Amino acid sequence: MNTEQPEDPQRQRLREHLETILIRTEKAASWREESGRLRCLVNHEGFVPVRTRLAVEDLDFLSGAREDLITFTELTLRLLDLHQPRDAGGITSDAAHPILRCRSCMWRWPCPTFRAMSEAFGTAFPPLPESA
Ligand SMILES: [Zn+2]
Repeated sequence: MNTEQPEDPQRQRLREHLETILIRTEKAASWREESGRLRCLVNHEGFVPVRTRLAVEDLDFLSGAREDLITFTELTLRLLDLHQPRDAGGITSDAAHPILRCRSCMWRWPCPTFRAMSEAFGTAFPPLPESA
């Protein structure tokens, strides 16, 4: 029996869009070290006059970086609002630590979506107890 579902076209388009952003971002040069050096050169008007050589890949990235980052941040905030813990109810022997489940996907808290977000942004969260 074939249980494979055909790929949802909207999901496929979204995946392709996200992969395009990822590839474009990976091709661009990082400004992490350069921005630290440039910060020391801010003039009395609050600006740093910059002369630099930008590759086509850098321009491709910079042209959409602000909008992409706003979109990702808004998406992440929406996911964070959707995936939050709630008391699962029921009887527990540990009243101080009730069993929590995600109010959206109903997985035990922290749910896989929240864990993926937390891992992606490097935010620590307590490990799951052994008896799940
Ligand atoms: Zn969830």
